[in-house]
Amino acid sequence: MSDRYLQFTQSAFGRQLVTKLGLPNPTPLRRFKPGEPLIAGPVLLGGSGRLADSVSATLQDVGADARKERADGERYAGLVFDATGITSSEGLRELYDFFAPSIRQIDRCGRLVVLGTPPESLSDPKAATAQRALEGFTRTAGKELKRGATSQLVYVAEGAEGATDSTLRFLLSGKSAYVSGQVVRISAADVPGISQDRPLQDEVALVTGASRGIGAAIAETLARDGAHVVCLDVPAQGGELAAVANRIGGSTLQLDITAEDAPDKIAEHFTERHGGLDVVVHNAGITRDKTIGRMSEAHWDAVLAVNLASQERIDAKLLGEDSPLRPGGRIICVSSMSGIAGNVGQANYATSKAGVIGHVHSAAPLAAKKGATINAVAPGFIETQMTAAIPLFVREAGRRMNSMSQGGKPIDVAETIAWYANPASAGVNGNVVRVCGQSLLGA
Ligand code: NAD
Repeated sequence: MSDRYLQFTQSAFGRQLVTKLGLPNPTPLRRFKPGEPLIAGPVLLGGSGRLADSVSATLQDVGADARKERADGERYAGLVFDATGITSSEGLRELYDFFAPSIRQIDRCGRLVVLGTPPESLSDPKAATAQRALEGFTRTAGKELKRGATSQLVYVAEGAEGATDSTLRFLLSGKSAYVSGQVVRISAADVPGISQDRPLQDEVALVTGASRGIGAAIAETLARDGAHVVCLDVPAQGGELAAVANRIGGSTLQLDITAEDAPDKIAEHFTERHGGLDVVVHNAGITRDKTIGRMSEAHWDAVLAVNLASQERIDAKLLGEDSPLRPGGRIICVSSMSGIAGNVGQANYATSKAGVIGHVHSAAPLAAKKGATINAVAPGFIETQMTAAIPLFVREAGRRMNSMSQGGKPIDVAETIAWYANPASAGVNGNVVRVCGQSLLGA
């Protein structure tokens, strides 16, 4: 589905008109392309905390040009500020001192990242307060930044300094094109040394609902990163499913995930055919919209069964005894903005997607015990067949009501999932990251 308004604003006449009328002026987003540098220009570093070495190591590894001194007139692909040294509200002034002169030097589709310490881990109330305050700053910066630039806050636990690499690569690159205003938490973890060119090399992944839309993009992206992907969908989608699997050198598993024996069938399939399983993406989902008073029992039950109960049952199997999930396993759930903000006509869907967030939070400690992680993405308006069917005016509102003034693409959700799936993301557990261009809803 193409965004004709965005195309129009790229013409000379269109640009002039939207500027004159003060209409949304979306910037075509720079997305990651294999072979291109991960970070497209110099990165200015600031702050004084415990993460300087971790940030420098990542920038050096990706061949980025790190600068410690701001120069007038220079454009920056990234501004990274280590705020872990801020221990009081007075210290927050450091943010102003660094960003006030530099923020306007951020390039088109540039990246702003602030690093902090999780407030809940600090015993000093003044330090915890100052660290919590960082959220207000980064979310506002995301709303003020123009031309496709993004802003994020990463809370890095003490002891997790060596676990930041995959997250910095993701947040500083075009892989996070449609992610902004987010707060990520990284906890201490053993991070394996692996090639970041094909981080999922020799791994086996399962993607549910993989025959089309976001699921097909997820399967393609995990295959790009080196995984053998088993594409799962209902038998009725068999033809499209096989086409996706063939395109990416993967295989298929035709199954209705709501079937009583689905968890056992999945476990059996991976144990027998692949000798194990590394990444599971619960992407399959349905909508059956009606306002609460008009909703049929069947519509309520179907949505809760596909979007929530089946995932809980499959994960109970995968996180239980006798499971094909290997150490370092990754479970990734697909929630939705509706699950965060609610949405008229979607009580069943919003309940199921809020439940997915609850599931991620409640299963995270068990996953950690098993050396695995469980996280969720919450997509906003993504250009798919599902959103193409929305009536024009509602669709236009959905597309523009975010800091990017445009919808995201399935690849944006897929890249976020690939970051969670990365073996180097071992410290990223129990997170919910919105892929919504910093939607104004539920912010
Ligand atoms: P889609 O309808 O194009 O694809 C969903 C897939 O899931 C289909 O191939 C379908 O056959 C499969 N599926 C449904 N029930 C199943 C079952 N019982 N067993 C196995 N497979 C089943 O949807 P999409 O737009 O690609 O969305 C993918 C996910 O992203 C869903 O969970 C959706 O709720 C979520 N999401 C989408 C958007 C968006 O803007 N498109 C926004 C937020 C969240």
